[in-house]
Amino acid sequence: MNISNNNNNTTTTKAGVDSKITQDTSKSDICNEGASKSNDDVCNVSDMLQNMSTADKEDIAVSICANCGKEGDEINNICNKCKQVRYCNAACKKKHRHKHKKDCEELIRLATEKHNEELKLAAELHDIELFKQPPPKEDCPICFLRMPTLASGRRYYNCCGKVICSGCCYAPVYDDQGNIVAEKVCPFCRTPWPSSDEEIVRRYKNRMKLNDAYATYDLGCCYRDGDDGYPQDHTKALELWHRAGELGYAKAYNDIGYAYNNNGEGVEVNKEKAIYYYELAAIGGDVTARSNLGIKEAKAGNEDRALKHFMVAVRDGYVKSLELIKAFYTNGHATKDDYTRALKVYQEYLGEIKSAQRDKAAAADDQFRYF
Ligand SMILES: [Zn+2]
Ligand SMILES: [Zn+2]
Ligand SMILES: [Zn+2]
Ligand SMILES: [Zn+2]
Repeated sequence: MNISNNNNNTTTTKAGVDSKITQDTSKSDICNEGASKSNDDVCNVSDMLQNMSTADKEDIAVSICANCGKEGDEINNICNKCKQVRYCNAACKKKHRHKHKKDCEELIRLATEKHNEELKLAAELHDIELFKQPPPKEDCPICFLRMPTLASGRRYYNCCGKVICSGCCYAPVYDDQGNIVAEKVCPFCRTPWPSSDEEIVRRYKNRMKLNDAYATYDLGCCYRDGDDGYPQDHTKALELWHRAGELGYAKAYNDIGYAYNNNGEGVEVNKEKAIYYYELAAIGGDVTARSNLGIKEAKAGNEDRALKHFMVAVRDGYVKSLELIKAFYTNGHATKDDYTRALKVYQEYLGEIKSAQRDKAAAADDQFRYF
């Protein structure tokens, strides 16, 4: 299988507009038989569990020694193994050890079973969240069509902080009298393009004050690369990406994941953390992270999970994942139905993003290619 990890694709498209586009057990168990004050009584497990749950419900603070049946607040010596049975002291515990042995094992077995079931349920819930189709990116604020996933299909404007589709970026801008504005301006707010690097930096600072996720992410990239007059500072970059992620820019989590996975810039390489951030990014709609997760699953031999990731990415327009599904189909890891479905969802995506204006822009300049 010809699969390789995607590059950390933080493409920077710099035009006059800075258009960089680019994760006690201390249950008061009450033992009926212990309460009978007979040292010979052994609690049976089901009674014990039943009583434990009753104790939970009624929040009974009084405990009873499982050996001598003494009641009180001081029954604090807990069985070290099951941690579910109490004694008044070490002597009682020792005395009861032999009788408790079987119940203890059963309590441990039940607790382990319960724990495993909880883990399984948590994993299932996590998968539901992970494989859910993320909500699509915001529509273009000018033409109101779905924003293309491909980075060159949209631009970020650091004046108003809008992300605008390639078609609307390419289209002429008109003034209030209906005349074409000659100078290069933002198609949304008509602010002229920044004339200097200082201007760009100033605008970014303004956008940062407004909690702009894009600006925050981009500034992180400046620190990663030591770009635009910023010193190279990986710790600062990560800090900004965390902030950008919290503000809703999923790609930032992908870059954090990449740092943990590959180069450890600013952090120690940690594959588990990498996956954690890739997943955050994927859930937030970042297709690169989604694809990387799919590739990791494929490499681990989990083709089913890989296919699920690729399918979600294809529905969001990630053509590389479509190619991988095709490869899966060719070498028998996916069915013809899977591949047909992938083609269908990709067509659905294209149907949502295609427009004459975007086609015109793409035909005029490859920098405006949008799928
Ligand atoms: Zn006792
Ligand atoms: Zn025990
Ligand atoms: Zn548009
Ligand atoms: Zn603007």
